Amino acid sequence: SEVIAADYPFTREVVDRDEANRRFADDPLKLERISELGADETITIYTDGPFVDLCRGPHLPSTGRLKHVKLLHGAGAYWRGDSSRQMLQRIYGTAFHKEKDLATHLHNLEEARKRDHRRLARELDLVMFHPFAPGAPFWTEKGTVIYNALMAYMRELQRDDYREIRTPLMYNKGLWEISGHWGKYRENMFLVLDNETNQHDFSLKPMNCPSHHLMYAAKKHSYRDLPVRYVTYDALHRNEVSGALSGLTRVRQFAQDDCHIYLTEDQIASEVSRLVTFILAYYGTFGLEATLKFATRPAVRIGEDAMWDRAEAALRSALDATGLPYEHKPGDGAFYGPKIDFDVHDSIGRAWQLGTIQLDYAAPERFDLQYTGVDNTDHRPVIIHRAVNGSFERFIAILIEHFAGAFPFWLSPEQVRVLPIADDFHDAAAGVVATLRAAGVRATLDVRGETLNYRIRDGELAKVPYLAVIGAREAEGGTVAVRTRGAGSKQVVMPVAEFAAKCRELESTRSLGL
Ligand SMILES: [Zn+2]
Repeated sequence: SEVIAADYPFTREVVDRDEANRRFADDPLKLERISELGADETITIYTDGPFVDLCRGPHLPSTGRLKHVKLLHGAGAYWRGDSSRQMLQRIYGTAFHKEKDLATHLHNLEEARKRDHRRLARELDLVMFHPFAPGAPFWTEKGTVIYNALMAYMRELQRDDYREIRTPLMYNKGLWEISGHWGKYRENMFLVLDNETNQHDFSLKPMNCPSHHLMYAAKKHSYRDLPVRYVTYDALHRNEVSGALSGLTRVRQFAQDDCHIYLTEDQIASEVSRLVTFILAYYGTFGLEATLKFATRPAVRIGEDAMWDRAEAALRSALDATGLPYEHKPGDGAFYGPKIDFDVHDSIGRAWQLGTIQLDYAAPERFDLQYTGVDNTDHRPVIIHRAVNGSFERFIAILIEHFAGAFPFWLSPEQVRVLPIADDFHDAAAGVVATLRAAGVRATLDVRGETLNYRIRDGELAKVPYLAVIGAREAEGGTVAVRTRGAGSKQVVMPVAEFAAKCRELESTRSLGL
C-alpha cells in the first residue's frame, strides 16, 4: 500500500545489450536471461520508484492505479524449474478496481479449492493414481459407475444416427506420415518398438481421426449414404511431460466421444445446426450453460479463399439459424477449416472449453476420400471433427467440481443407503435393498455397529442422494423414512414401492433435482 500511495509511474526504457548488462551487473540471473535473448530482440527495462526490472511488460501507467490488492500465496520455485539451480521466491497476487469484485474473486477461489476434483475424487474414492502408470487414472468401482453412466448416455443419444466403431490402438508410422502427425506431433506420441525392424515404427494413437478416415476409405460411398458419422470411445495416449500431469485434467491416457462426420458441402449447414442443438442439450442435462465461439480462417492455412468463403458461410448460417449469440474469433480457426468451440460455465462461473465442431478440408485430400455424386463421378467429402465431452476424464473432473461431488441421482455411484436403526431391523432393511436393486437402483446396506447418527453423518459425507432409515414403524408398514441430501434432518415416510418408483423416475429422466 506504500507503493500504491506513492503512485510511482512505470517508465519503460529500451536499452541495448551492453547497457542492460551494465545495469544488472550484480544480478547473475538477469545476466543469464539477457545472454539468452536473441540478437533481434528488444530489451526493455521498467522502473517504478526504487524498483528496476528487466521485463517485457506491459505495465499499468502507475502504481496508484492499483486499488484492491490481495497477496494470495508465496511459493519457492527453482530457477528455470531446475532443482539443481537456486531456489527463488515467487509471490502470487491479484488486484481489482472494486472491493466487491475482489471479495467475489476470493470467494470463488475458496470455492474452487473446496471443489478441487483431485481432493474430492480421492475423498469420494472415485479415482487413484500410481507412480507405475503416471498420468493414467485407475477408476475405482465408484468412479467406473460414473464413467459408464456418461458413456451409456452418449451411446443412447447417438444410437440412431451414428455408427460406433472400434479401431486399433497402435499404428505404423505410415499412417501418421499421411496424417501429418509424424512430422508435427511425434513428441506427443508414445512410440513403440517393432521387434522385426528394431525401430520405433509404431505408436499408440493420440487421436482417432486417421483411423476413422481409413475406415471410410475402405468402402465405396454414394451421396445417398452421407453423412456417415463414425464415433469411437477407444483409449488414447498422449505423451504429456510428467511435470504437467494434473489430476484428471492433464492425463496421458483418456477416451473421447470422438466423432467424424463425412458429408457433402451442401449438408454442412443442416448438420452443424443438428450438432449445435445436440451439444447444448447434452450440457443442459448437467446444468452447464455454454457459450459459442466462431473461429475463422487463420493467417497460416491451406485451401483457396473460395473454399474458406464457402466453409465460413456455411458455418455462420448454421450458427445464425440457432438464434444463439456467439463470439467471433477471427483468425482462430484450425489451419484446415473454421470451427465452433463451446465453453461451458460451471456452477461457480468458471469457463471450460469443451466441445468443438471443426470443418476439415485437408484430411479428405491427404487420405484421398471419395463419394459418388448424383452425376456418378467421384467427389471429395468434407469432414467434421466433433467432440462434446472432449475427454471423459476431463469432463468428469469438471462435473466433480461443478457438483462439488454431490452428483445428480443418475450419476451417483451409490444412490440410496439403507440404515436400520438397530439390529432388529436388519432383515427389513435388507428387504428394502433387494426391492430397490430389483428396480435398478444402486442401493447399499449399512449395518455397521455404529450409532444411527454416526451412520447418517457418514452417508451425508459420502454425498449419497438418499438415506433410507428403517425402524419398527417402517419395518411393519413396508415404508422407508427418507432423508434427502441437502435437506437436513427432514424425513419423509413413504411406501417402499413408491420410493422405488421415484428413484426410477429420477434415473430415467436424468433429473438434476432429488
Ligand atoms: Zn478428429
